[in-house]
Amino acid sequence: MTTLDQPLPEPSTGRRGDVAKVFVSGCINGSPIRYNRTNVELRSPIWDRWRADGRIVTMCPELASGFQVPRPPAEIVGGTARDVVEGRAVVREDNGRDVTEQFLVGARLAVERAASTGCIAALLTDGSPSCGSTYQYDGSFSGATRPGRGVVAEHFIEFGIPVFAEHQIEAVDALLRRADGAADDPSET
Ligand code: SF4
Repeated sequence: MTTLDQPLPEPSTGRRGDVAKVFVSGCINGSPIRYNRTNVELRSPIWDRWRADGRIVTMCPELASGFQVPRPPAEIVGGTARDVVEGRAVVREDNGRDVTEQFLVGARLAVERAASTGCIAALLTDGSPSCGSTYQYDGSFSGATRPGRGVVAEHFIEFGIPVFAEHQIEAVDALLRRADGAADDPSET
């Protein structure tokens, strides 16, 4: 049985440990692991507080599924991330290689990690064919973009975990604080 065939874990009950957790793309404030050997610098006191509180669960779905650094750029071609999940579109590198299955494996691994650690939200690097949550490159490798999600973000949404781009860290923080408050208040459901 492959990773893709296995059922997803049960949805999270909201938090595990002392504080609500957030799944974060591994390239945010981390090693230069993006396809072009870069990372994403996010400077925010919220990030510093999350680190101090132990809220952050980090992982790179593409490295988890076996890609190397650097690697060719890839884009969703012929549809949306939902179309990729349902077999109507593909993820291709700029050399034409179909890497759809590897991207789907990475997405499943990301959801499994988020679920097993009790993450209630995901802060993801926008524009990535994996982690993008508000926009995608349009599949022409011309630099043109369109609204849309990557396959990791699509899996999170399907699993009931809301996704946010890196510039939306304040919204994620509000969710986390609300979850903490609900867990501390037995009258909240
Ligand atoms: S797959 Fe996601 S975490 Fe990994 S480098 Fe790309 S955007 Fe970052």
